[in-house]
Order: sequence, then C-alpha cells, then structure tokens
Amino acid sequence: MKTPSLISLHGGHSGQFCNHAEDTLEEMIRAYIDRGFKSVGISEHMPPFGDEFLYPDEIEAGLTAKGLQKRFALYFEELERLKEKYRKEIIIYKGFETETRTGYQDQVKTLVNRYRPDYIVGSVHHVNDGCFDYSQEVYDRICKDLGSVDAVYLAYFDAQFEMIRTIRPFVVGHFDLIRIFDPAFMSRLETPGILAKIKRNLSLVKDLGLALDYNLRPLSRGEDAPYLAPVILDMAREMKIPVIPGDDSHSSVQAGKFVDRAVRTLEEMGFSTDWPVPRCLPVADI
Ligand SMILES: [Zn+2]
Ligand SMILES: [Zn+2]
Repeated sequence: MKTPSLISLHGGHSGQFCNHAEDTLEEMIRAYIDRGFKSVGISEHMPPFGDEFLYPDEIEAGLTAKGLQKRFALYFEELERLKEKYRKEIIIYKGFETETRTGYQDQVKTLVNRYRPDYIVGSVHHVNDGCFDYSQEVYDRICKDLGSVDAVYLAYFDAQFEMIRTIRPFVVGHFDLIRIFDPAFMSRLETPGILAKIKRNLSLVKDLGLALDYNLRPLSRGEDAPYLAPVILDMAREMKIPVIPGDDSHSSVQAGKFVDRAVRTLEEMGFSTDWPVPRCLPVADI
C-alpha cells in the first residue's frame, strides 16, 4: 500500500500578502518543501472591494481597499514566479479564499476572470456583513443582534449554502467555523434545525462534486477538534465527500503542521487519501 502524500489546500497566508500573517510567501513554500510536501495549494484572502469592509488591523495599518487589491495582483505574480522556480520540488496550486460580504459573487467572478486561479476556497467569515470570527466580543455582539447563538448558526449555514450554490468553490473552507467562540458547539451542531441545514449544505457539496477542508487551525490554538467537528466528519464519510487537509497556516512555522496526523486520521476513518486535483468550476450566473 502506498503512503498517502501530504497536502494542504487551504493556507499559506503570508505576512507579505496578509496583514494577520507572518513571513514571506517564498519562506512558506520552502517550509512546505522542507517538510516533504510534493504539492500544496495557496489560498490568500481575497481583497475587500470597499473601505467599509477593511478589517480593524488593516485600518490600523493605514491600508485601503484599493491598496489591498493591488497587493492581491502582486500575490498572483509572486505565486507564478514561485511555481516556476520550485517546479521540480513541489506543485503549487494557485488559489484564493473567498469572503461573503455584500456583492461578493460579482467580485469573486471578477477575480476569477482576472487571475485565472487553479481553484478557490469558499469560506464564510461574515453573517450579515459582520465578521464573526474576529473576536469573542464581536461574536457575542452578532449573537445579541440576531437574538441567539442558534440564530447565528442558522444564518451562517444559509449564507454558506448561497456561497456554495453560486461560487462552487472546489474546497469549502472550515465548514463549521461558526462554532469558533461557542463552547457548547458539540450539542448545538446536533439540534434539529441546525443539523438539517448542515445536511442540506453537505448534499449540495456532494451534488456539485466539491470537497471539504479538514481545517487544522484549531489544533495550533490548542483545541482538540479540527473544523469538521466529529459529527460532520462522520456525515461526510457516509456521503463519500472528499475531505482534504488544510493547515490554514499564517506563518512558515505553521506551514504543514499537523497535516501528517490529519492524513492518518482520515485514512483510519476510511476516507480516500488519493487527493483530487484542484480545479476551478465556473461561477454560476446569479
Ligand atoms: Zn487569515
Ligand atoms: Zn478562513
């Protein structure tokens, strides 16, 4: 039996192109090569299209939406250079990670047409344009605004459904990120209303032939469960949806971390470790 290869299709955020990351993109790529990766997908965050969607740390750094869009163009140029420079050592898939702020479908379409990525990671970090994964404080405020934590979960999975339906990302990023600041997530994910939306979204992923990100970021924060909580991971296996590790790395130290363990877990659980090749599906007409 052949040993499954190491892979990450979500991550490689670098300090060069992302404000809340460290190190250059080249240092990230070298880290993957040093750790035995033969292929890797790099998925920098897409830029905002208006200054009202800047993250607080970007505002503090004096950045503008225009500036971030220019930096995003340089990101693809640099990826192309590194892809060529290291082509004998590693296959680099050029990607980016989506946002779902108002107007995102057209913006993603524009970026896909302009930069021709190999694939995209479809992620939801916002509910009603509020970024819920930024801090506990913001998360709590969004829950208060929507009336309950359950209501935020429901809104999140609806936003995710729309994103999957319209963007058709090859990889759906950290499917259950909405649990980030909720200590009661294990039971909440199994409440009937929420579970029904999870099943609906997984069916869509299956029907469109997409894959799920086995997102290892929680492990680097000292938590036990990667995204895809055990209950969702079990459903994905039953539905035979491909699940692919993503380190969601934001520094060269994090690049590739925990991937060997994740590959073993997936293999033991009976998932295929014959990783599908990333591709870009056409963004649906809305
Ligand atoms: Zn990030
Ligand atoms: Zn993300």
